[in-house]
Amino acid sequence: MDNTILKVSHLKTYFFTRRGVVKAVDDVNFELIRGECLCLVGESGCGKTVTALSILGLIDSPPGRIVDGQISYNGLDLAKCSPKQLRQIRGNDIAIVFQEAQSALNPVLTIGDQIVEQIKLHLPMEHSEARERAMTLLNEMGIPSVERVMSYYPHQLSGGMKQRALIAMSLSCDPKILIADEPTTAVDVTIKAQILDIFRELKAKRQMSLLFITHDLAVVAEIGDRAVIMYGGKDVETAPVSEIIGEPKHPYTAGLIECLPDLSKTADRLASIPGTTPNPSEMPQGCAFHPRCPKVMGICSQHEPPEIVISREHRISCHLYK
Ligand code: SF4
Repeated sequence: MDNTILKVSHLKTYFFTRRGVVKAVDDVNFELIRGECLCLVGESGCGKTVTALSILGLIDSPPGRIVDGQISYNGLDLAKCSPKQLRQIRGNDIAIVFQEAQSALNPVLTIGDQIVEQIKLHLPMEHSEARERAMTLLNEMGIPSVERVMSYYPHQLSGGMKQRALIAMSLSCDPKILIADEPTTAVDVTIKAQILDIFRELKAKRQMSLLFITHDLAVVAEIGDRAVIMYGGKDVETAPVSEIIGEPKHPYTAGLIECLPDLSKTADRLASIPGTTPNPSEMPQGCAFHPRCPKVMGICSQHEPPEIVISREHRISCHLYK
């Protein structure tokens, strides 16, 4: 039986600006398997968030538009669904937890009112029943004194509590897929560990399929089953997390791993990949990583590398593996 719940094929999402066409997502491919945590990984500007927004039909148009590709979910191609169909799928089937809890929450509504509103928007429930469900969800997120927190406004909560309230809200309709966009970026290490625990539990208890967006390979090592490494709007390496961390094949993946802090050594500075991510409206010819790649060859600046299948679960786009 095919266990794929979501399949993204040859997705291209471009932004048509006065300064030119920005190819934010340019031929991205991956499958999300039921019950797994698939991490989308890369530096900022590599196309991770635009991929997530494309899945949810949340690309601002104009200037953005899905120009090609399919997003297959439950017999539908989300890239071609009407705004009405996408509204029904968002929240009910696929939900997202945004990176910035502060800006994702409405500052003038209490946490309780926001979750209850979200539940009533999607489920035929009376107010009291929806309130009961909101408290159960907050409880599940490990929030203490739930009744009191229901009456708080977002500014009265700490960063970690806001993030948990946001996760509770995203779960209000029992989505099949949860997309988490850098949910651990704006919190300290203790809260980060607690939030990762929540996602691990959601996966284990609810058999939820998670698409976890992060730039941090340490987070990937903790939570992911498989990872898609993205660069310049493309998927450049896809493999189980154990292979990505233990045997990275793509020079960009290897560079990201080298940037991980080694706690056994005392280094003055963290390593970083030389150079910067390319401007999506002026992508280098050939392999977009070639100006930064330590293994660059003549062909790399001429031709885009084709996708090479290394094993059933490991694919890579790099001329080194022809
Ligand atoms: Fe480096 Fe060439 Fe591979 Fe690109 S294709 S990652 S430049 S070796």
